[in-house]
Amino acid sequence: MNILMTGGTGFIGGALGHHLHSLGHRLVVLSRQSQQRALASCPPGTRIIASFDDIADDEALDAVVNLAGESLFSRRWSAARKQRLLDSRVGLTRDLVPLMRRLRQPPAVMVSGSAVGFYGDAGDAELTERSSARRKDFGYRLCDAWEQAAREVTGLGIRLAIVRTGVVLGANGGMLARLLPAYRLGLGMRLGNGEQWLSWIHRDDLVAILTRALAAPGVEGVFNGTAPEPVTQREFHHTLARAVRRPAPWVMPAPVLRLALGEMSQLMLGGQRAYPRRLEEQGFVFRYPHLEQALADLV
Ligand code: NDP
Repeated sequence: MNILMTGGTGFIGGALGHHLHSLGHRLVVLSRQSQQRALASCPPGTRIIASFDDIADDEALDAVVNLAGESLFSRRWSAARKQRLLDSRVGLTRDLVPLMRRLRQPPAVMVSGSAVGFYGDAGDAELTERSSARRKDFGYRLCDAWEQAAREVTGLGIRLAIVRTGVVLGANGGMLARLLPAYRLGLGMRLGNGEQWLSWIHRDDLVAILTRALAAPGVEGVFNGTAPEPVTQREFHHTLARAVRRPAPWVMPAPVLRLALGEMSQLMLGGQRAYPRRLEEQGFVFRYPHLEQALADLV
């Protein structure tokens, strides 16, 4: 297949791109980076484009993977920052619609990103794809707007799969890359009371879920892209400390996090207990269903 990717240079998209390339697919990746820098994250033979205008009307694109979005963690959430977080997801997704409309042969499928943040900070509630948001916080508003924008393509007869992803665990990036240096020094910290839920997924499992969504004609609608065993932050903290064989006595008090990070602290002090009900119903088999096993592979 010829596959257009947004977010194809990122932590998730880079791994997905290499996997798709190994299966024989050809990639077109949208990136703001120079050709040389973007290509460093992509498999050989990838065509890098700076704008959707670089795609001709008669190009044959079979599928779209839409994962682009500026990092939620890089700085405090000022009003301007929140707008950039929205624009880099919602604006870019909206821009895909005119592209698909002008293509002589529109792609058959689009797989689009979202996050379990869609459910808002949900306490202990067990969340499946049928659950609605428990709190309409910024995480919810961002994911909801992103999903709504993606739904526009269904009007063009394009099959759409949306993956509400949990925290992705993989080597050399994402949350683990931020945490591991401190944990390796025995300085890892439980966050607040540690009771908040953390829905996570091994990156290899997410890549398999996204690949399956591209290839399987019946895969449509919303999927929670999370491992079947969400954990509390306390459990995550102790499991990671055990994986690196270091003590874990430290606690970061919630008020300190709130003061340091402002509204962004909700990413660490809130959480979602999400279950991948639809993937399980469809027989998807996780390679890393347990956190201990996933961390043993990565640490
Ligand atoms: P990265 O930060 O590693 O990569 C972000 C990607 O988005 C890059 O390819 C970047 O492309 C692209 N991008 C960012 N801003 C823009 C923009 N304004 N216009 C065009 N492209 C842009 O992210 P991840 O791979 O970790 O995550 C991918 C998506 O999945 C994100 O939207 C993220 O919010 C979501 N997600 C991630 C989770 C995680 O744990 N990692 C969990 C849940 C959801 P370039 O720099 O080349 O232009």
